[in-house]
Amino acid sequence: MKIARILAYRVELPLHETTYKWSGGKSVTVFDSTVVCVETDTGHRGWSEVCPLGPFYLPAYAEGVRAGLRELGPHLIGEDPRQLNRLNRRMDAALKGHPYVKTGIDIACWDLLGQFAGLPVCELLGGRYGDDFPLYRAISQETPDLMASRVAEYRAQGYRRFQLKVGGDPDVDIQRIRAVAAQLQSGDRLVADANTGWVQHEAVRLAHAVRDVDVYLEQPCLTYEECLAVRQQRTHPFILDENIDGLDVLLRALSDRAMDVVNLKISKLGGLTKIRQARDLCVSLGIAMTLEDSWGGDLATAAIAHLAHSTPPELLFSTTDFNSYVTVSTAEGAPQRQNGRMAASREPGLGVHPRMEILGNPVLEVK
Ligand code: MG
Repeated sequence: MKIARILAYRVELPLHETTYKWSGGKSVTVFDSTVVCVETDTGHRGWSEVCPLGPFYLPAYAEGVRAGLRELGPHLIGEDPRQLNRLNRRMDAALKGHPYVKTGIDIACWDLLGQFAGLPVCELLGGRYGDDFPLYRAISQETPDLMASRVAEYRAQGYRRFQLKVGGDPDVDIQRIRAVAAQLQSGDRLVADANTGWVQHEAVRLAHAVRDVDVYLEQPCLTYEECLAVRQQRTHPFILDENIDGLDVLLRALSDRAMDVVNLKISKLGGLTKIRQARDLCVSLGIAMTLEDSWGGDLATAAIAHLAHSTPPELLFSTTDFNSYVTVSTAEGAPQRQNGRMAASREPGLGVHPRMEILGNPVLEVK
């Protein structure tokens, strides 16, 4: 089995809530997502999706996915899509960096491997734990009162884990954390994710001001060193996200005891092959994880579901269902939220069947 053709489709994903806002005034209204198809000489098709959170979250942007595939794709024609470590070495040799571009190829090849083996991707990633797993709900940055009012709405949808978007004015963020925390019930879990939005002294002051609140702090500052300094001065359970983009910095953070939980995103690490390495290392060392991606629709959610479902439940801190945030469905068979929980497909591969009428014509073809 050889890769014969690579196709990319551009899909716009509007939001049910119109706009998603996070730290520093950043926001997105319509996501620009790339659906990738890897086709083999046997006529099999593997699928994936890469959707950056705008151009200002990670070093990634939507048009960069397509440009990167145009550059990388010709090096992969003729390669066996089932030999995933080999394929990833080939990608790393042909294009330095750009993990989000490689993610599109890697996930589609996992889909092909699963179809070929007759097994769901989660079983190939290590095995399916339980019937389903819990989801978190992000609370877009708004006024403290509006954010607090969202908790009851999301709890009615079954969510018990809430990720509050802070990283704005620290004094307002203190109000946001207190207002949302006041809505929590026993068993709920609250994360305040600053998405790099505070400078070090602000983060230390804010953490001190909410020292009595049962809340996790996620990625308060831009650099690893600032985050570590905050971590060493305060006692809230601590999560790192944006800084942890590879095994080298993950190992450093584990050695520094810089976090209690780590947020690993598939396209930040470079695909399922690479995030599996990081995930399995964290499992072995007892570090819990939020496993997700930067954004996406049905196809990204399917890949996240297989990764999450193959992770021991006690170390799966949370994960997400982006396809319920957006108004467009790009595939049949994608996992659907039920009472705040989700499950990976039991079909071979990712178990998704793209809606070609939604994808339209490819914007890129490499053969
Ligand atoms: Mg985060």
